[in-house]
Formats: sequence, structure tokens, C-alpha cells
Amino acid sequence: MSHVESSETTMLRDSLRRFVDKEMPRELARKWDREDIFPRDVFARLCELGVTGLTVSEAYGGTGPNIVATMATIEELAKRSLAVAVPYIMCVCYAGMNIGESGSPQQKAELLPKIAQGKILFAYGLTEPNVGADLASVETTARRQGDKVIVNGAKSFCSGAHLSDYIYCLVRTDSPDKRYKNLSIILIPPSTPGVTVRVTDAIGMKGAPTTDVSLVDVEVPASAIVGGDAGWNNGWSMLVGSVLNVERLEVAAMALGIAEAAVADAWSYSQERVQFGRTISGFQAIRHSLANVRTDLHACRLMLYDAASRVDRGAPCNVESAMAKLFICEKGKSIVLECQTIIGAYGLTREFDIEKYVRDMLILPIAGGSSNIQRNNIANMLGLSKG
Ligand SMILES: Cc1cc2nc3c(=O)[nH]c(=O)nc-3n(C[C@H](O)[C@H](O)[C@H](O)COP(=O)(O)OP(=O)(O)OC[C@H]3O[C@@H](n4cnc5c(N)ncnc54)[C@H](O)[C@@H]3O)c2cc1C
Repeated sequence: MSHVESSETTMLRDSLRRFVDKEMPRELARKWDREDIFPRDVFARLCELGVTGLTVSEAYGGTGPNIVATMATIEELAKRSLAVAVPYIMCVCYAGMNIGESGSPQQKAELLPKIAQGKILFAYGLTEPNVGADLASVETTARRQGDKVIVNGAKSFCSGAHLSDYIYCLVRTDSPDKRYKNLSIILIPPSTPGVTVRVTDAIGMKGAPTTDVSLVDVEVPASAIVGGDAGWNNGWSMLVGSVLNVERLEVAAMALGIAEAAVADAWSYSQERVQFGRTISGFQAIRHSLANVRTDLHACRLMLYDAASRVDRGAPCNVESAMAKLFICEKGKSIVLECQTIIGAYGLTREFDIEKYVRDMLILPIAGGSSNIQRNNIANMLGLSKG
């Protein structure tokens, strides 16, 4: 059954659109993109709308979990700027979803109320210099030493580590042959001695840039093990639990928001730009192109919110979330490139936002589980014989 948006979600969207218009005008969003700025003051005002409580249960001061509303928030923010959308994800998804699902009672009591208020951001420390898709092979290690944990290794592409309160760090805690049963997740504040964070220069997602993180004899208390003592060597099940569905969808929601913004810009431009004595929207090729991208957007929206509402209903959605991540990110890429073509030469200049949409969008079929990995997941989950 397809998802029908509730009046509460529509009202939330309306207030987010007013917020974006007022607090995130295009000119500011361009500045954040060009100067790689996280606008913490704007984020703080966003938190006043209560949207950082959407993945936290009422018992801890939130109003969730409400994954449909969380995705609507990401979509609306991503239409204008990932410099706010990504930190929002670092709060509600990386922090809220993971601690809500896998945190120890003490971690929940300490962190969730602050997450609901938007006061805590997590960076995801999964990827490493030698480890991309094959996350179970992480080389960063941690060992117990009394009531301490000592971590050594390196993380790469760790978005926003320098902005975060904790790096949600996947580490190997037993011998390499115990694959999937030798992983734990440790919460590491970036200010801990032995942690060095270096901002790297990816083409998009400015404002919450990727970082390289070096971890040399980093000492944290055993209470930093996600899930407490029971979490030791149980990190893999935390990564692939229902949190994984939300992780796929949050990337898809960004892709949908960016694609919608690109289509809106190309739609308006086509009705203003005059060539051969008429607006280019009068040429059949442009009309068909815009009709196609509107149709693609509709399909993307249905897939995203169908999967999100499945999460909210507790219905199975591993396949649907993988399909949504694959379809929306790949379609999103083709949509923004089509829109850039419609805008023509101006679409290749910094005067127009379409070049930003393209830079941001190119990241999304790769980050958070690449398209090929989603294809593998879909074929495996649907039981396709490997011969
Ligand atoms: C801007 C940006 C932000 C990011 N933010 C974070 C973050 O915050 N935290 C974090 O941990 N990571 C982050 N990442 C890393 C991202 O999640 C990884 O890039 C992703 O997991 C893929 O890893 P890889 O790029 O090393 O590709 P690889 O795993 O090296 O793969 C290279 C290519 O081979 C393909 N491939 C690999 N294995 C298979 C297979 N079994 N079957 C078919 N094809 C395969 C992939 O699809 C890809 O096309 C970010 C990346 C970017 C670009």
C-alpha cells in the first residue's frame, strides 16, 4: 500500500519551507557552500522547531520515532543546503537512531535528551583508507585495558568529525578470522588526546566536509562502548539492524530534495530563457525532458515514503529501503544532469545553483552503501541463485 502524507507531516513541511525561506536564503546557502561553513546558529534555530526529537522516543524527550517526518525534514532542508541537512542527519540519524536502538541504558539516559534538543552530533567513523564497501574488514582496533578502551587506526571520509561531539567509530575487537563477530562501536569525542582530524576536500556536501581521522593510542572509558559490555564484539548487528534502513533512506531523502530543487530551477528557467523568438519551454524536446524529470521525481517520492512508512509501521523494508536508495540516488543523478543541460551554459557557472546540485548529487550513489552494493543486497535478499 502506498504512503499518503498525513496532515501533520504536511504542516511540518509548511513550517520547514517558511524556515528555509527565512533562515536559509539562496545567497547564504551559496556562501556556506563556497566557504565550507556549517551555520551552527541556523541549526540552533532549526532545533527550536522540534525536528531533532523526531527519532527520539517520548520517554527521552522526543516525539518519535517518526521516520516519515524525519525524511520530510531532510528532503526540505536538502532542497536548499546540505550544510544544514547533513548536520541534521548527524544528530537525528547517526546519533538518535543508533543510540535509541543500540545504546546502553546509561547512554540512552545521558545522550537521548540532548539529541532531542539538537545538542549532540555524531560523525560516522566507518570507512577507512583500505576499507570502503567491505566494512566488516575494518583495520582500526580497540582493546580493553581495565576500565579503559584503547583505540588505534584511521578513518577516512568521516563527514563532519570536526563538528561532532562523538565519532561513532567501528573498530575490530577480536581476531580477524571471527568475521562479523569481532567488531564493536566506540564513542570517541574528537577532542580526546590521540585523535587528529584533518578536513579533506570533496567536491560537494560542503559545510559538513569529509575528514581523515587518525587515532593513536586513544583512551576512552569502557562506558564509551556502544551497548555497554554487551556491545563488545556485537557491533555488526548494530550496523545492520533497522538503523541500516533509515541510513539508506536518509541518503535517498537528500537526493530527492536536491533533485526537486534542480527541477524547480530548470522549470522556471525554461519559461524565462528566450531563443528563436520563444521561451525554450515551448520546444518539444525541452517539454518532454521536463515532463520526464517530473515523472521520475514522482516515482522517487513514492518509493521514499513507501519505505519510510514501512519503517514506521514496523513492516519489513530491507528490500524496499535498498531499492529506494538505489533508484532515487541513480535517478537523482540523471535528473540533475538533465536539468543542467536544460539550463545550458549558465548551468555550468557559479551564478546558478545547478552546479552545486550536481556536485552534491554525484556523492549520493556512492556514500552510505554504493549503488552496486544495493544491487547486491536486493538480489541476495530476493534469493537470486548465485549458480
Ligand atoms: C562526500 C562523502 C561523504 C562520506 N561520508 C562518510 C561518513 O560520514 N562516514 C563514513 O564512514 N563513510 C563516509 N563516506 C564513505 C562512503 O560511505 C564510501 O565511499 C562508500 O562506502 C564506498 O566505499 P569506497 O568509496 O571506498 O568504494 P569501494 O568499496 O572501494 O568500491 C569502489 C567501487 O567498486 C564497487 N564495489 C565494491 N564492492 C563491490 C561488490 N562486492 N560488488 C559490486 N561492486 C562493488 C563500488 O560500488 C564502487 O563503485 C563518504 C563518502 C563521500 C564521497
